[in-house]
Amino acid sequence: MSNFRIGFGYDVHRLEEGEEFWLGGIRIPYHKGAVGHSDADVLVHVICDAILGAANKRDIGYHFSDRDPRYKGIDSKILLKEVMGIIRKESFELGNIDTTVCLESPKLSSLIPAMQQCLAEVMEVPESLISIKATTTEQLGFVGREEGIAAHCVALIYKTG
Ligand SMILES: [Zn+2]
Repeated sequence: MSNFRIGFGYDVHRLEEGEEFWLGGIRIPYHKGAVGHSDADVLVHVICDAILGAANKRDIGYHFSDRDPRYKGIDSKILLKEVMGIIRKESFELGNIDTTVCLESPKLSSLIPAMQQCLAEVMEVPESLISIKATTTEQLGFVGREEGIAAHCVALIYKTG
């Protein structure tokens, strides 16, 4: 049996006018923002799901229910920190993550280093382990119509003990 485990995460949030837009742990300046029970940070959510999946520890909704008032409006970075604690308790450590955010606008390229730095700090891993990519969907579908934002993540983790 290998010491490596792989996991995958996918998430979608609606975008609405005038909402705060949190992505990759930082606030994005934009006239729309993602909505959800928490701060609706779709990138942090897929990272949590991929890491939990890799450790076969269910998903973010299982650990932090969207019906639980404790998590209303919560900073998703707190959930990510807890997820890292869950896998480290099982003697897993992060190998790397690779993510793709699907968003029509704004362009994320210049914001990615700040997201990487923020997430590395929260997860207590080097920034070099966190890949963030962005794509549009060529104006097709709910992402193309700017009705929503989607993200994908794969995570590799390994046993330390
Ligand atoms: Zn979410």
